[in-house]
Amino acid sequence: MIKINKNFIYNIINKDLKKCKHKKIYTRFPPEPNGYLHIGHAKSIFLNFSIAKLFNGICNLRLDDTDPLKENKKYVNFIKYDIKWLGYKWHNNIFYTSQYFSLLYKFSIKLIKNGLAYIDELNKKQIRKYKGNFNNIGKNSPYRNRSIKENLIIFKKMKNGFFNDGKASLRTKINMSSNNILMRDPILYRIRFKKHYKTNYTWCIYPMYDFAHCLSDYFEKITYSLCTLEFQDNKYLYKWFLYNLKINKKPKQYEFSRLNIEYNIISKRKILILIKKKIILGWDDPRILTLSGLRNRGYTPKSILNFCNYIGVTRKNNLIKINFLENCIRKELNLKSPRLMAVLDPIKIIIKNFKKKKEEILIPNYPKNKKINKRKYIFSKELYIDRKDFKEKKTKNYKGLTIGNKVKLRYSYIIKAKKIKKDKNGNIIYILCKYYNNKKEDKLKIKKNINGIIHWISTLYSIPSIFFLYNNLFNITNPEIKKNFIKYINKNSIIINKGFVEKNIKKIIYSSYQFERNGYFCLNKKFKNNKIFYFNRIVKLKSKILKK
Ligand code: ATP
Ligand code: MG
Repeated sequence: MIKINKNFIYNIINKDLKKCKHKKIYTRFPPEPNGYLHIGHAKSIFLNFSIAKLFNGICNLRLDDTDPLKENKKYVNFIKYDIKWLGYKWHNNIFYTSQYFSLLYKFSIKLIKNGLAYIDELNKKQIRKYKGNFNNIGKNSPYRNRSIKENLIIFKKMKNGFFNDGKASLRTKINMSSNNILMRDPILYRIRFKKHYKTNYTWCIYPMYDFAHCLSDYFEKITYSLCTLEFQDNKYLYKWFLYNLKINKKPKQYEFSRLNIEYNIISKRKILILIKKKIILGWDDPRILTLSGLRNRGYTPKSILNFCNYIGVTRKNNLIKINFLENCIRKELNLKSPRLMAVLDPIKIIIKNFKKKKEEILIPNYPKNKKINKRKYIFSKELYIDRKDFKEKKTKNYKGLTIGNKVKLRYSYIIKAKKIKKDKNGNIIYILCKYYNNKKEDKLKIKKNINGIIHWISTLYSIPSIFFLYNNLFNITNPEIKKNFIKYINKNSIIINKGFVEKNIKKIIYSSYQFERNGYFCLNKKFKNNKIFYFNRIVKLKSKILKK
């Protein structure tokens, strides 16, 4: 388990505990079951669970399920799965806001009885209009001055299904001219005639987030209710409810910055738009930063948590570089992935002067530690190299093979390109080469003028493979702030290549591989075939090793 770095939340808790404010600390992670968890949630999970653990406290998992239109059991199961996958265990049972519906109803009656809530029969549009905006104060609803008795009777009717959807709502009576628009008589309950995945048809009125949230925190004895910065203004409401309901031991809300990552959108609502528009394949598409997408892509829980720890927890909103996330997975895979050769976009090489059928060599699985694990590799007359490693003419700084020039085949011979054989459309059929099998003293001389070192596979020792190569889903750094974010989709976010992987893949069964010079890959589990291997590129290598 990764230990969380100290941050401002840590400092607050530490100070409170020194002053003996709490005997034990309680946090909670409260996702709405209306989508899959994403990397932003991972930040919140890491913070809530790790900080509780650090102080010997408790972190609850609470499904914040107050909207039957959007929530369902399928999402609950995926949320549970993803939290466990990250390596966390919630305390005791899972909590559901829906389990508090009766209690919340009682508290809302209390507000009505205290003259702090009323039934409004304005519709949604009218309520919005009456609310005013930043420049104009709001206007009281004509229903605001109903008697307490009348409000109690109508609320009961509302609960019993007397009103249709949208025909009535329970509102707090705070202040329609408050500077904080959220305090202008926010809605407490709205009507929804829809089956709730947990409470079925028991209720047709559902509490709003602000009301349900602070009270759920109270019911669970939460001491630190950690949420993202956009809830700053809601804090006044959070406190208002707790104060006016005369709650003794009040939970306290603290905000931290929301996670945004370059070239990506994170919000569930926006991911759902991408799914509906069939831009991505689903919640687990490897191009999006949901935990299931990252898992399919080949990210590990450890790399995600290391990333969360690395970016830290602050109150400053900023856009995190995608490189930070990539570096965390690279660092981990670099140590544990065996090296193999794969050619993602093959062209054929024929070695004219190689007369044998094949030659066996031993090459290291972990080049940095050559002593452990060597594997058999085959050199033969016909080989594949990657198309990007060949150019007809040499250009400045080009390190690949060009006509008349030499490269070294990694762990093997130096070759020189002599001639290209093309079909009538100008496509390369093969490149005719010569290899140097010289004695030691000549080797140095030949080595001096090679362009670079490239990877390769013998045609005799290769297995057809399909490579899914991923790029950023968006072509602008901050699509999240664009209204029409769909406009900025990168058309090349996925490239599917047909190529080859060395035969050893059949024997070296690992969760990830480094295909030399091409990046880190894992098997794409969506496809299975005895003759073809399918791979996902998890992440590219940081820098090309195309040096002498
Ligand atoms: P979305 O915009 O994706 O719908 P949300 O805030 O509505 O996000 P919830 O399911 O309500 O999603 O979130 C559960 C918890 O995760 C909340 O405490 C929320 O603050 C936190 N959270 C959600 N998104 C992020 C994010 N991008 N960065 C950090 N924390 C997040
Ligand atoms: Mg939310």
